[in-house]
Amino acid sequence: MLRSVLVAVALIALASLPLSAQDALLLRPARVFDGEAMHEGWSVVVQGGRITAAGPSVDAPRGARRLELPGATLLPGLIEGHSHILLHPYNETTWNDQVLFESVGERVARGVAHARATLMAGFTTERDLGTEGAGYADVGLKAAIEKGVVPGPRLLVAGPAIVATGSYGPKGAAEWDLPKGAQEADGYDGLVRAAREQMGKGADWVKVYADYRWGARGEARPSFTTEELALLVQVVESTGRHVVAHASTKEGMMRSALAGVKTIEHGDAGDLETFQLMAERGVAFCPTVAAGYSTRTYAGWRPGVDPDPESIRRKKESFAAALQSGVKILFGGDVGVYAHGNNVLEAELMVDYGMTPEAVVKTATSGNADILGLDDRGRVRPGLLADLVAVEGDPTKDIGALRRVVMVMKGGEVVREPAGTNR
Ligand SMILES: [Zn+2]
Repeated sequence: MLRSVLVAVALIALASLPLSAQDALLLRPARVFDGEAMHEGWSVVVQGGRITAAGPSVDAPRGARRLELPGATLLPGLIEGHSHILLHPYNETTWNDQVLFESVGERVARGVAHARATLMAGFTTERDLGTEGAGYADVGLKAAIEKGVVPGPRLLVAGPAIVATGSYGPKGAAEWDLPKGAQEADGYDGLVRAAREQMGKGADWVKVYADYRWGARGEARPSFTTEELALLVQVVESTGRHVVAHASTKEGMMRSALAGVKTIEHGDAGDLETFQLMAERGVAFCPTVAAGYSTRTYAGWRPGVDPDPESIRRKKESFAAALQSGVKILFGGDVGVYAHGNNVLEAELMVDYGMTPEAVVKTATSGNADILGLDDRGRVRPGLLADLVAVEGDPTKDIGALRRVVMVMKGGEVVREPAGTNR
């Protein structure tokens, strides 16, 4: 899948100073994907951190500098819907060993590097779904990015996440109480207290594991009851936040959907009935195709050479059922299982599994913004945040173009400059 090679393109910028957020800037790509449709020949004006104009003939303020992006598509900064910025690929270090043996200091240092790699790949917003044993380090990393201490995407964070007692790992001998990758909570009082505690400490989303691999034979089984989940949703929604549910079993997905969570992650055993219920209830589906794909490759599977393993065949079937059902798809790959900065792997696999490139690009921009309630971004439209990415080629025809990043802008500031920019 790593088929991308960065191709240098001739780019001319008539700027003589570093481009900062306050300067008016006229961006001149070959075309603009505005979050919904492609427009050949559009230009975009940015000033004061916001988009001020976009269209076929825009008036740039006097003295505005021009940034020529020939051959490039300009699109809204990409939005990653499911990451673990404090985890790194499991073929480097297993999840258990990361949770148990890496210090928070090491994990945060890695997180800083991950945040930078994510931003440079064109992802200007990321919903991070659980620190996996690193407490509230995500809240601190988010604050450091917002204060400009380190570069990174705008983060939405979930803190430790909530699991049912006994369901989650790391697991060892029964005599030992090992530290867990998430916060255990049970019953109405326990769930309400954990959710309020997490929100109070900075969680933007409350993540709950509606099932996990804790069945009698190690298979995934539901954890919380529908009633527990419904109360959790009521408590969290009343604060203006939402619940996101991890669920890979059909039963876990059904309970989560009936309880009213906002998004369901993974959904490997989802079928048409499950996805139709989600569509009816307005619950979005985040397929995390790249996570299972990556773990299979770590186990020795060679995509395109070996036949698809059972888990990959099932994933393709459930993804097809999701597309058929009309459920809203959230773009999110569970990045962290694979390398941060390689977020586009999810987009490529979604195309391989049956979505059109245009639909995927829409999902990763305006689609995610709508589902995540981010009405200040995800589109190229006057008034919205100037979070923009330019890529060589047309990603609505060739999804791999998303890898050929030539410029990234966050809040009007060019954080990755085109090659050849005059200083
Ligand atoms: Zn995850």
